[in-house]
Amino acid sequence: MNSLAVREVRHFIGGAAQAGASGRFGDVFNPNTGQVQAKVPLANVSEIELAVQSALKAQPGWAATNPQRRARVMFDFKRLLEVHMNELAELLSSEHGKVVADSKGDIQRGLEVIEFACGIPHALKGEYTEGAGPGIDVYSMRQPLGVVAGITPFNFPAMIPMWMFGVAIACGNAFILKPSERDPSVPVRLAELMMEAGAPAGVLNVVHGDKQAVDALITHPAVKAISFVGSSDIANYVYELGARHGKRVQAMGGAKNHGIILPDADLDQAVKDISGAAFGSAGERCMALPVVVPVGAKTAQAFREKMTAEIETLQVGISTDQGAHYGPVVSAAHKARIESYIQMGVDEGAELVVDGRGFQLQGHAEGFFVGPSLFDHVTPKMKSYQDEIFGPVLQMVRAETLEEAVALPSQHMYGNGVAIFTRNGRAARDFAARVEVGMVGINVPIPVPVAYHTFGGWKRSAFGDTNQHGMEGVKFFTRVKTVTARWPEAGLEGHGDSSFVIPTMG
Ligand code: NAD
Repeated sequence: MNSLAVREVRHFIGGAAQAGASGRFGDVFNPNTGQVQAKVPLANVSEIELAVQSALKAQPGWAATNPQRRARVMFDFKRLLEVHMNELAELLSSEHGKVVADSKGDIQRGLEVIEFACGIPHALKGEYTEGAGPGIDVYSMRQPLGVVAGITPFNFPAMIPMWMFGVAIACGNAFILKPSERDPSVPVRLAELMMEAGAPAGVLNVVHGDKQAVDALITHPAVKAISFVGSSDIANYVYELGARHGKRVQAMGGAKNHGIILPDADLDQAVKDISGAAFGSAGERCMALPVVVPVGAKTAQAFREKMTAEIETLQVGISTDQGAHYGPVVSAAHKARIESYIQMGVDEGAELVVDGRGFQLQGHAEGFFVGPSLFDHVTPKMKSYQDEIFGPVLQMVRAETLEEAVALPSQHMYGNGVAIFTRNGRAARDFAARVEVGMVGINVPIPVPVAYHTFGGWKRSAFGDTNQHGMEGVKFFTRVKTVTARWPEAGLEGHGDSSFVIPTMG
């Protein structure tokens, strides 16, 4: 491709686009064609410093802006997201590869967090105890942390940044976003729209980059908290490095979610649900369902037949094809990785019922397409079961009993999401109570909680103890200050001698 035609993505610092100054760039592909469509600058330490300084300058004024006015910016931002929905979705699809309808879902789920942030005055109301002692009142307030940062993955380039900056900024912080360098353009558009909505320059900065930028943010003394979403090894690294530098850190990692099918489930519906959850967005979702656990041989056989037939109906196509169920994966390297996991499954002795390797889309031979795959007789000892594949690959693990089915996700190293399909309320209730996973669906294949609840997995799916968005997000991006105040009655100002014992209200 002619390099002159390649667009250059910019950083967004202090309310304005900034060309990269490090001299280092990454390639942004169009996964539909396999061509490089843009280059993205990879920030160095001085560019991170510039973003931090701009955020530091903006934050005190923003924190002093009353919460209702901050909420109004969020209301306006929400409106702008709706106005620009089509443009944003098309841009997102062109860099990520997911179909446009799915990109709209990505933006919509972020927008719902912005709607939550519109209610920030209510969420920030403190607590008050009148008369905790004689003439003594106690009150607690939530104050912003200052400058905070978010590091986000490629698979939800709109929703995940908004999980973070929507709440952080509404709480009165200034935010530095380091989005995925693989699909960096939508995050920049979001920052531009935030400025258009009335956020002051410097309240939201976007700096592109790789490990160098991430390390500079985590170790910068002025950055008070790090919110991270990505793969587990990096999440673990970010968590440890951040903790060593005295930061508050929440770091969400990878996943391997299971869908349990009990014999009494509505099987036709479960097959449809699991097909969408396993193959939608080419399986590149942390809440995808790449493992299905039918309970009993009869359920397994029926599921296998129906799912094989369902896969026959799936259309893989380019992102703008309205008839396509899913598009290409994000990169050639990721395609090769997914296909190597399919080979690993075969080598480990699982039965490959449908093989999605070697899929070619007519007219798009260079696109990063992977057909849907189905494995049967997968076992917990297989590495291809233990690892996150993050592609359109569905693995069947057969279980004899509900006990066995509960044990599988509970004993897996990841614990992000899980779903159970059944008509038995008692079994579902018992399953939800006992399974060791953070987010549970009952006849709901992708149990991503609504914005005013909270998102977070267990075990290697999340490091740190505070979830994304909802009140957990507000807690993460604020700190509590508690004031104990004595106002003695008139005439009783003198209240005795010094006391050398710990004061009590008794
Ligand atoms: P990734 O870990 O490769 O990248 C995430 C971020 O970390 C990016 O911004 C990237 O630039 C940065 N990064 C990459 N390598 C780094 C390094 N060595 N040091 C410092 N920073 C580094 O993840 P990805 O491939 O972009 O996203 C897919 C992963 O994210 C999957 O594992 C998926 O399950 C996970 N994910 C988890 C959730 C969740 O909420 N649990 C949500 C979405 C995605």
